[in-house]
Amino acid sequence: MSLPTDGKDLVESMKTVKSKFKFRGGVHPDYNKDLARDKAIERMPVPSELVISMSQHLGAPAKCIVKAGDYVTRGQIIGERNGFISVCVRASASGLVKAVEKRLGAAGGSAPAVVLDTTAPVPEGVVVPEGPILQPLDWKTASREDLLKRVEEAGICGMGGAGFPSSVKLNPPPGKRCEYLIVNGAECEPYLCADHRLMVERASRIRLGVEIMRKILGECAVRIAVEANKPDAIAALEEAFADMVGNVEIVVLPVLYPQGSEKHQIFATVGRVVPEPPALPIDVGCVVENVGTTVAIADAVEKGEPLLERVTTVSGDAVAEPKNIIAPSGTKYSDLVAFCSGVKEPPAKVISGGTMMGFAVPHLDISTTKTTSGLLLLSRKRVFQYTSQACINCGRCVRACPMYINPAEISKAVEADDIADAERAHVMTCIECGACSFACPAHRTITQFCRRAKNSIRARIAAEKAKAVAAQSAAEKKEPAK
Ligand code: SF4
Ligand code: SF4
Repeated sequence: MSLPTDGKDLVESMKTVKSKFKFRGGVHPDYNKDLARDKAIERMPVPSELVISMSQHLGAPAKCIVKAGDYVTRGQIIGERNGFISVCVRASASGLVKAVEKRLGAAGGSAPAVVLDTTAPVPEGVVVPEGPILQPLDWKTASREDLLKRVEEAGICGMGGAGFPSSVKLNPPPGKRCEYLIVNGAECEPYLCADHRLMVERASRIRLGVEIMRKILGECAVRIAVEANKPDAIAALEEAFADMVGNVEIVVLPVLYPQGSEKHQIFATVGRVVPEPPALPIDVGCVVENVGTTVAIADAVEKGEPLLERVTTVSGDAVAEPKNIIAPSGTKYSDLVAFCSGVKEPPAKVISGGTMMGFAVPHLDISTTKTTSGLLLLSRKRVFQYTSQACINCGRCVRACPMYINPAEISKAVEADDIADAERAHVMTCIECGACSFACPAHRTITQFCRRAKNSIRARIAAEKAKAVAAQSAAEKKEPAK
């Protein structure tokens, strides 16, 4: 495979190819995409109340800088970036801050959030700015540094689920170089169609986002990865990228879960293997960004529009009208469902995200973030009730695991409370894809066992670090510097 420094490639125009690499493992869940696949993206009105979390991304939550009684305007920074792996949070609508308090997030933890009354009148003396929130930039003449700063000040993080700060990802550390920019349009999670609709409806914005990222990263090859079950998205991308030069390929991937996982996407598109954590894609010369993030980067640069909203698929057989909705960050799930004309029947299960990697949530009083790709409402007949049984050593989970680890061994170790054994079995390599649980005939909650072990190991490492820092500072107090 030729690299982007090859002069011949730089004048080549885009081509569509089939993926040459297939990872081992993976499963074929029932995709159920037909419910929302053909529903054009709709913008919902700003709800009367937004609950904007300070923890919408991977890393340290943003530091809230507003208080109850403040009036904030759309796009105003309400949470400052709080560390290297963090992003700022901006108000996704104008309104009166009713409270700043801890609120439950989709993953089960709670984080500080700004509760905004968007119906409050604009106080005297407050000017709600008109026009773009940030100064639009001409990406062709703007410097790499200005473009990178724009991604940071727009509060952009990965919108495919992980929420990694994009300004960090697009700025490789010294000695590392991006050879392949991979745009992730696989969207392999059942039910979800938000990325699919973006590719169909906004392919030209994806093209612009790619041009901007390639300018930030330096000359690199581009791979746009799409699963074969999205022919209309592939056609739209082919049209939008037709005249783009410089080693650009649309890579059509076989339909296989978890094809959208960053590591598997890198292997499927360019045949490179990301080593075990803490190795990152850039260690094998790759940067992966989701199609939604790519559009957000285009909008932040060309329109001066920070990341304040996103497309979320609301689907499932219990929702009256499945839709792909653009909603401001902080929209309550209950408002999303109301915009879909409510429910056909009370859902037996509500999932934030997809059915494989999403989180079951206890109620609809939870709000969207920059990473909320879907909300699923499932009826009793779609929710299988089962009892977890003892492992029968059938090995199906091992065959399904795309990370080449032994899920059965890990689940048994965690069941026996032997986290050290789970660690020896490489549980930290687990990407929590759920393929093992899906494949297990004994209905063992293997993914949850993996999550439990990983959380426990992370807590132990954090405690060890804190202890080392405390010991270091005590030693420094005893022996003050001369
Ligand atoms: S062990 Fe982890 S990576 Fe392997 S199938 Fe299970 S959830 Fe996926
Ligand atoms: S699939 Fe389930 S029963 Fe089979 S080996 Fe894995 S954990 Fe055991």
